[in-house]
Amino acid sequence: MVENASLELLSGARSDRRTELETFVLEAGEPRFRVEQVEAWVFDHDARSFAEMTNLPTTLRARLAERFSLTPLEVDTVARSRDGTIKHLWRLDDDERVESVLIPTRERLTLCLSSQAGCALGCRFCATGDFGFRRQLRSAEIVAQYRESRRVAREELGRPISNVVYMGMGEPLANLDAVLASLRGLHEGFGLGARRITVSTVGLVPGIMELARRPEPFELAVSLHAPLHELRLELMPIERRYPLPELFGALRAYQAHKNRRISLEYTLIDGVNDDRELAETLADLTHGLTCFINLIPFNPIPSRPEWRPTPKDRIAVFSEALEARGVPNAVRTPRGRDIAAACGQLRLSRNESSSSDR
Ligand code: SAH
Ligand code: SF4
Repeated sequence: MVENASLELLSGARSDRRTELETFVLEAGEPRFRVEQVEAWVFDHDARSFAEMTNLPTTLRARLAERFSLTPLEVDTVARSRDGTIKHLWRLDDDERVESVLIPTRERLTLCLSSQAGCALGCRFCATGDFGFRRQLRSAEIVAQYRESRRVAREELGRPISNVVYMGMGEPLANLDAVLASLRGLHEGFGLGARRITVSTVGLVPGIMELARRPEPFELAVSLHAPLHELRLELMPIERRYPLPELFGALRAYQAHKNRRISLEYTLIDGVNDDRELAETLADLTHGLTCFINLIPFNPIPSRPEWRPTPKDRIAVFSEALEARGVPNAVRTPRGRDIAAACGQLRLSRNESSSSDR
């Protein structure tokens, strides 16, 4: 794995690799401005190889390529939905595969990216959970999904990526260091506003507290899916480690620190967690917390043939029960159903008046 032996320019913010780059350029007998040229190629022009850096001398390009890596991801598969969603399966340097999804709406172009190959947390409704854990992604591999997708967005859709959500494969807060470095990379390296980046977690309390300590206003989404301990435990094994009272304690502490609204994700499975009374319990649970609840119809997965999405009319009942209790919420329409029916992750909405549409 030559890639790992070399320094990945995408790992962290623009300034993180500057010293190494500067030393290298000066030792190569080149002027200092070459450093800015390389950085511009990496962060402004989305270069995925040094050969593309045509304003640099050929010899310098070759030497850079021996020392540094741009973490190029190879396309394994690309699927285009009728609704405009584009899903990529990327092949990593050790042949692992992760996916990312471009989701266009009228006002935004959201990129959903992966933080791990697979996931160890085994939520019962999730295709990635079925898949099991393969390995952590390096921060450069997370940021590279953005770089590759930005190239596609420009070439195929003619518009920039406006938002990034960590809602692809994996649990971001179980790969905390790499994810924090990737957040800096997207924010300080590629200049994406922190409010346009959402980290979605199953509810790992230490990671939530670490995000609370970050100075940047990244958005937090928490996958809840049940407002009662026993029911949540049936759906999400993580409930044993961080039960609801502890999770909500952490969310209140987060909010005290950040003063930011938190999104709660609630996937509705027919007859499992969609009872009207549960909406009432959910309203009680969130009392005093400034939050927005995203209601997502369950996306069927092969390992759970008996589970169906809650029908529209009953989702509306659930939504109205929350509304009546003053809990802001929106029903999300899953995107790209025709290309990723088994994925379970494509659940962002066409609804432009959503929580994160600000
Ligand atoms: N591990 C993180 C982020 C990745 S999962 C998390 O769990 O939050 C992204 C979102 O997709 C989560 O809210 C998850 O609960 C949801 N999801 C997973 N499988 C789903 C399915 N089959 N149908 C609908 N949503 C699903
Ligand atoms: Fe992992 Fe999130 Fe899927 Fe749960 S829902 S198994 S945490 S990816």
